[in-house]
Amino acid sequence: MCSGRVDLAFVLRAFSNGMDGVFIGGCRLNECNYSTHGNYHALNMALLCRKIMEHIGLNPERLRIEFMSSGEGILFAELMSEFGSTVKELGPLGKGEGIDQNELKSKLAEITKLVPYIKVVKNEKLASRLESPEEYDKLFTRDEIEKLFSEVISYYIDPDKCQACGICAGKCPAEAIAGGKNLIHIIDQEKCIKCGTCFEACPPRFGAVTKISGEPVPPPIPEEKRTVVRKHKER
Ligand code: SF4
Ligand code: SF4
Repeated sequence: MCSGRVDLAFVLRAFSNGMDGVFIGGCRLNECNYSTHGNYHALNMALLCRKIMEHIGLNPERLRIEFMSSGEGILFAELMSEFGSTVKELGPLGKGEGIDQNELKSKLAEITKLVPYIKVVKNEKLASRLESPEEYDKLFTRDEIEKLFSEVISYYIDPDKCQACGICAGKCPAEAIAGGKNLIHIIDQEKCIKCGTCFEACPPRFGAVTKISGEPVPPPIPEEKRTVVRKHKER
C-alpha cells in the first residue's frame, strides 16, 4: 500500500532469493496523503541499502527507487524499461560483480540478521526528510557504513550480576535469552538480533546486561555454574 512499508529486510530478502534487481515505486515526494510521509522513509532506506550493497561488493544500481503518481503510466513504463535494461547489462546478481555465490549468500544473511540493529543505530537518519536529490548521496557515507559494521555491538549478560529475574528473557523479541528459575540467564549470540531491549530492560539495581563493541563476546557460563548464588544464602 505504502512505499514506507518496504523494509530494508524485504530488499535484502529479494536479493537473497536471487533477484537481480529491485525496483521500489512510491508516490511523489511531498504529495503523501498522510502526515507520515512514508515515501521519505522508503527513500532513506533505499539510500542506506545502496551503500550497504556497495559495502558487500554489489552494484548499487541493482536497487532503484522512483516516485510518481498513478496517472504517470508512461513515466512508469519508461523507468521500468530503462531499469530492466540496466539490470540485464549488470548480469546475474553476484556473477556480474565477480562475487562467489556462497560468499554472497552468507554476506546477505549476515546483513539481514543485523537489520534491527541497523534500524536502531540509523533511526534518526532513516526518519529524516531530505530537501533535494543533491543531498541523497551525502546521507550515508562509505566510512559511516564501514564503521557501522566494524563496531557492531553485542550484548552479554554478566554472570556475576544476573539475578535471574527473567525480565530480559520475557522481553527479548528473538527468544535469544535462555533463562529459568534461579538460573543465570545467557544470550544465544546466533539468535540475538542486537535490538538492545535486554540492555534497557535489566533493572538498574542489577545492571547485568553489558554492551560489547570491537571485542569478542565471552563464552556463556557453563551449565553447571548457572545457579544463582544469592548473598543471604551464602552466609
Ligand atoms: S539484544 Fe537482547 S533483547 Fe535484543 S535480541 Fe539480543 S538478547 Fe534479545
Ligand atoms: S533482566 Fe538482568 S538480572 Fe534479570 S535475568 Fe535478565 S540479565 Fe539477569
